[in-house]
Amino acid sequence: MKANYGTYIPISTVDWHGKAAVVFFLRGCPFRCPYCQNYEILTGSDLVDIKSLQDKIESSIPFISSLVISGGEPLIQKNVVKELAKFAKKKGLVVGIHTNGFFPQVIEELLQEALVDSFFLDIKAPLDDPEAYGKVIGCEEYNLTLEPKEVIENITKSLDAISRSNVDLEVRTTVIRGLVGSKEDIASISQFLAPYIKGRDSPYIIQQGLPENAMSENLRNLKPFSREELLEMAKAAQPFLNNVWIRTKEAGNERVNFEFI
Ligand code: SF4
Repeated sequence: MKANYGTYIPISTVDWHGKAAVVFFLRGCPFRCPYCQNYEILTGSDLVDIKSLQDKIESSIPFISSLVISGGEPLIQKNVVKELAKFAKKKGLVVGIHTNGFFPQVIEELLQEALVDSFFLDIKAPLDDPEAYGKVIGCEEYNLTLEPKEVIENITKSLDAISRSNVDLEVRTTVIRGLVGSKEDIASISQFLAPYIKGRDSPYIIQQGLPENAMSENLRNLKPFSREELLEMAKAAQPFLNNVWIRTKEAGNERVNFEFI
């Protein structure tokens, strides 16, 4: 089997909070988020035998406890993800998938086959606002033919499937000035998420976007939101969620203690 390969990190401590992981970034994605940092692997082809990826996992095994499959959108390569996950599980690793939620069917299959221990799901904009969602996934800027309403339906199905399962779930929103990150955005996302994640205490992470590395040149001169601004956004999530985190370049991952902000 061939994988359309992007790149990999042999040992990472930042892609799965609290774990050391080998991380694969698979090529291809249906979205074109203007702030994407991995835009060099959204298209193109670099077909490699899956055995070479398994060899990379073997080499990292003395130093890691987990495999993370990221992208791009890794679930576009369903069979590759399944093979890598099966291999990792045989080797005693836990498996995490970074996903934009666009392929709920694949998520269902992975759950049924018990191949994943944690999903890291990006929620990019308010799910009750197709126009805003379309803008953040690049429909306008990159003339995508995707229908934002259908994208939101797919993501909601993914969220529903994962929340009904017993695998871990982390939900993240990357915030970028002028695109997503107003208090209203965060309140709307949090309110939507609450029925899916509050009962299972899954973390919601507000993640500082770094515009200088963005795919869109229009964003590159923007100032990133500060840690203080992210804390203000977290306050907007508080009425709906109780396990809220912020992630910044300067301070890493911080669980927000609402008593002290
Ligand atoms: S940031 Fe957007 S375009 Fe980039 S890999 Fe993720 S979903 Fe795809």
